[in-house]
Amino acid sequence: WIPTWQERRFCCLKLATRNRWTRFLTPTAPESAPSVQAPPLSSAVWDACSDALITFDKEDLLDEMAYIVENDIVVTAITKQLDTLSDNVQVKYKSKVVKYTWPMLHHAADSIPWVQVTLANGETHQTKLLIGADGPNSMVRQGLGIPTVKWNYDQSAVVAVLHLSEPTENNVAWQRFLPTGPIAMLPLSDTQSSLVWSTSPRLAEELLELDEESFVDAINSAFWSNESHSDLIETAGSLFRGALSAIMPSAGSPRQLPPSVAGIGPKSRVMFPLGMGHASEYIRHRVALIGDAAHRVHPLAGQGANLGFGDVACLTQILSQAAFNGKDLGAIQHLLEYETERQRHNLPMMAAVDLMKRLYSTDAAPVVLLRTFGLQATNMLPALKEQIMAYASK
Ligand SMILES: Cc1cc2nc3c(=O)[nH]c(=O)nc-3n(C[C@H](O)[C@H](O)[C@H](O)COP(=O)(O)OP(=O)(O)OC[C@H]3O[C@@H](n4cnc5c(N)ncnc54)[C@H](O)[C@@H]3O)c2cc1C
Repeated sequence: WIPTWQERRFCCLKLATRNRWTRFLTPTAPESAPSVQAPPLSSAVWDACSDALITFDKEDLLDEMAYIVENDIVVTAITKQLDTLSDNVQVKYKSKVVKYTWPMLHHAADSIPWVQVTLANGETHQTKLLIGADGPNSMVRQGLGIPTVKWNYDQSAVVAVLHLSEPTENNVAWQRFLPTGPIAMLPLSDTQSSLVWSTSPRLAEELLELDEESFVDAINSAFWSNESHSDLIETAGSLFRGALSAIMPSAGSPRQLPPSVAGIGPKSRVMFPLGMGHASEYIRHRVALIGDAAHRVHPLAGQGANLGFGDVACLTQILSQAAFNGKDLGAIQHLLEYETERQRHNLPMMAAVDLMKRLYSTDAAPVVLLRTFGLQATNMLPALKEQIMAYASK
């Protein structure tokens, strides 16, 4: 089965996520491990206001960093895994939950001790533990009244499948920070890449309306144009780069260039509104939130789904232990362990992504100078780059 262009969506999965995958899926669906489909990535990130660049080459790193994987591969693999568990797992496709009834903490005569779920077709189900994986507008989270910090970024992401001008060894994830938001080109094959262009909602609407040729011109210009450069920043940046090269002549890597785009997959352009959100609690009595229901981030660092897979791995491990010890799966004690471990991991990552979004959302000269110097210096320090990548790929 070959998915249609309209349905093809991709995700940047980190090494840790791939390793979890291998553990989850290899016993029953080894052919669907992402490594078969996707080569490891290098990445290059640069600033449209100064062209300061940082590269993460896979040759320079101890471990691979990430893989671009088609969402359908993930879903197919999970579906296969579920099929092997059909004695214990029942999947209700095309079902909508319309109501949750929460248990009382202290058992009253007329209350149900478990969570009750009512579907749109009238069916009801009861569970000792409800896992809320219902996305950023989670009805589970809202139904429980869990306080959530959230804001919209006043940005939307336009995604599309891109055809490159010529076949190339396409293994670098390119991201350029424009004052209106980052544009990223993620490799799919020697001739195709995936576009994620975050920009103002107005420009995003315009990009969706453009004919194919003008859209392709807009992408190439967003990657190549120097219109956001200023003489002051350029001079200061090259002086700083010169000084760094004099101190560390062997540091830094030769500058590569992104491939140019010749066309797009028919009807592959789609737009998503962007925002950030964090639930102050991931758990309640007999309930745990995972994925975007608990935390939503800007896609600039490709972290959202990876954080969700991290939640799944953590909760699986804690619940397995509870089951092994004969404990009640919905009991708050081990759910608390899950919440503590994941918030400790997710919050610093979310703060870093939000900071990056803010740092690159301005073309004010002092901030541009600061980030230019920071990026250039970091690019020349392999040990620091190793540490950044080790953190980002956890
Ligand atoms: C443009 C863009 C690019 C991205 N790129 C990356 C990337 O490269 N790497 C990465 O790690 N992350 C990326 N992300 C983030 C990633 O897409 C999300 O983090 C991820 O999809 C969250 O998964 P989720 O299952 O928690 O929520 P969702 O994907 O929102 O899924 C929630 C599901 O719950 C269902 N649902 C909701 N309410 C009900 C109900 N009442 N009854 C029944 N079903 C219900 C919905 O229909 C939906 O299917 C990107 C996001 C965007 C917008």
